[in-house]
Amino acid sequence: MNNHMTDYSSDCIFCKIIQGKLPARKVYEDDLTMAFWDANPTSPIHILIVPKTHIPTLNDVAQDDTLMCRIGQAAQKIAKDFGVAESGYRLFINVNRGGGQVVFHLHAHLVAGNDVGTFFIKAAIGTAILWRKLVSFVKGPKR
Ligand code: 5GP
Ligand code: ZN
Repeated sequence: MNNHMTDYSSDCIFCKIIQGKLPARKVYEDDLTMAFWDANPTSPIHILIVPKTHIPTLNDVAQDDTLMCRIGQAAQKIAKDFGVAESGYRLFINVNRGGGQVVFHLHAHLVAGNDVGTFFIKAAIGTAILWRKLVSFVKGPKR
């Protein structure tokens, strides 16, 4: 698969998203790849980068295919757009059941936002909310 012809699988959710038959929060698109928010994010930023053609797993990418390079380049752009290129992010691919793959349309996960800075911002917001609740509790109901 090196000519990058667009090929869909009728029972694949990511093929349906690519064709616009299922909704997704799209963040990036070029001639070969598309990226959208993971439906169940495990981090504040959790984006899936997929080839626009149906390729089940990383094992199915031909040795001379430039696709993985293009997925890497898409990740660079998305990380920059989300402002995490410098602070850092993880890019990983689950391969087959033993590797944790659930959706059999090749995808790279781009996850970020679990860094120490984000943790302290969240902790500060949480503390402020708790403090306000405590103050209003101590003051009692308004008359
Ligand atoms: P895997 O375990 O196959 O590497 O990851 C599949 C990912 O796809 C999971 O993180 C899951 O939350 C996500 N996912 C599953 N179904 C949908 C869907 O319909 N839309 C979107 N945007 N993500 C999905
Ligand atoms: Zn597919």
